[in-house]
Amino acid sequence: MPLRLRHPRSLTAPRRKAGILPSLEDLLFYTIAEGQEKIPAHKFTTALKATGLRTGDPRLKECMEMLKVTLKTTSDGALDRHLFKKCVQSNIVLLTQAFRKKFVIPDFQSFCAHIDDLYENAKNLSGGQVADYIPQLARFSPDLWAVALCTVDGQRHTVGDTKVPFCLQSCVKPLKYAIAVHDHGTEYVHRFIGKEPSGLRFNKLFLNEDDKPHNPMVNAGAIVCTSLIKVMNFMNKLAGNEYVGFSNATFQSERESGDRNFAIGYYLKEKKCFPEGTDMTSILDFYFQLCSIEVTCESASVMAATLANGGFCPITGERVLSPEAVRNTLSLMHSCGMYDFSGQFAFHVGLPAKSGVAGGILLVVPNVMGIMCWSPPLDKLGNSVRGIQFCTDLVSLCNFHNYDNLRHFAKKLDPRREGGDQRVKSVINLLFAAYTGDVSALRRFALSSMDMEQRDYDSRTALHVAAAEGHTEVVRFLLEACKVNPVPRDRWGNTPMDEAVHFGHHDVVTILRDYHNQYSPQDSAAEKQNAEKNLDGML
Ligand code: GLU
Repeated sequence: MPLRLRHPRSLTAPRRKAGILPSLEDLLFYTIAEGQEKIPAHKFTTALKATGLRTGDPRLKECMEMLKVTLKTTSDGALDRHLFKKCVQSNIVLLTQAFRKKFVIPDFQSFCAHIDDLYENAKNLSGGQVADYIPQLARFSPDLWAVALCTVDGQRHTVGDTKVPFCLQSCVKPLKYAIAVHDHGTEYVHRFIGKEPSGLRFNKLFLNEDDKPHNPMVNAGAIVCTSLIKVMNFMNKLAGNEYVGFSNATFQSERESGDRNFAIGYYLKEKKCFPEGTDMTSILDFYFQLCSIEVTCESASVMAATLANGGFCPITGERVLSPEAVRNTLSLMHSCGMYDFSGQFAFHVGLPAKSGVAGGILLVVPNVMGIMCWSPPLDKLGNSVRGIQFCTDLVSLCNFHNYDNLRHFAKKLDPRREGGDQRVKSVINLLFAAYTGDVSALRRFALSSMDMEQRDYDSRTALHVAAAEGHTEVVRFLLEACKVNPVPRDRWGNTPMDEAVHFGHHDVVTILRDYHNQYSPQDSAAEKQNAEKNLDGML
């Protein structure tokens, strides 16, 4: 008989007795309580904020709602171990990551202290002119100055006038280009628009040798790009549903003062630059409207973070843009985003960015964070004076320049966590969420197109782990929403059903059996194809 490896637990190892090992919730409690019997609510929220998470983060909704309800039942506004557990258990994966310093900027507080220093340094600058071609821009005080950032893990920091609404103006150009590529693909969009820096002012009446606008970051390219997009709810999704408004007064003024843009529009029309059937004047209206979209520094930092995060909004987990759209956008922001300073900015700062006439600079540190700087006084080339100073200082301090050497350049700060093997990390996160029964983390993983059938070194899947731990809700979610294979075998030949039986989880056994009875193997290929479609509805 061939030798067969058996599951070690089924031979000699004693079963794990519940309650002997401290749970993750308990570990978190001890970390935050620092030796006390109870955690006052404000101590918990202060500790949370130090990690960079906000109490209003949509990913912490369940925890915060439970906290509110639970606090009403206490006399002293403090949580003992039991109450604490009740509050944190539904978001335990995110919270554990935060407190174990597993976010992209592990030492967030000291990084923020650096950001505040850079902010103060730029605040002292007094040069530049506030744009005055329309009254809505001219009214801004030259003293306004704000920086907001959001990392790819949703860590937030803001300093200065970060809640004052202002218009995106040209900062909207990369966003609408991204939407156009997301909707139509690169090839179609670039039938109408080039990819080269123009070497000319942003509103020049000029086309390239093929009679196309040079790129989507100059007005001509952005006007053509406007004719390729339709939907506006993208903006809300990019900003994780934070503030996105519209200044009708700015729109009217832009239209009234927009002779140059009308001239460009007629020229583009003459040269047949638009898709067939386009009504040029209504496209121009839409162009002016897009320039007049209002954001705050805070909400725009989430938009930038969505670009930094490959098109996934960090605070909602929603996939807003395709990776192709984001990569194209970052490339063109890098070469063409900063008016006639683009080459120098790429040289000195080495990061994709886009500025606008209202004084905004949307800056992306790919795979790390999005930043919005805002201050109305502009230099001669139209870029925010304080914003440029901040971006330059940031890259002198941290090794964020695209061509900074990450291995040998020890003189600059590297606030990032050490990178590891992404795949290993993703399996660990998946199995960890299944182990702890954190369904909301699993939902986010599924939404971000994670392979929910991934296996670890022992060929164990999330379904094995959830079945062994008796997490019925997780088992249901994996089977019904994700349509994972219900009978995967680990390296010892065990299925999730074997696990559920072994550990005496009768409710899991029932779910697996019922599911198995409905599930016929012939249908499985077609079933799997439908899984992604069904997922949306079920989440
Ligand atoms: N509304 C301005 C224009 O299209 C935008 C200017 C800008 O932010 O670059 O001319």
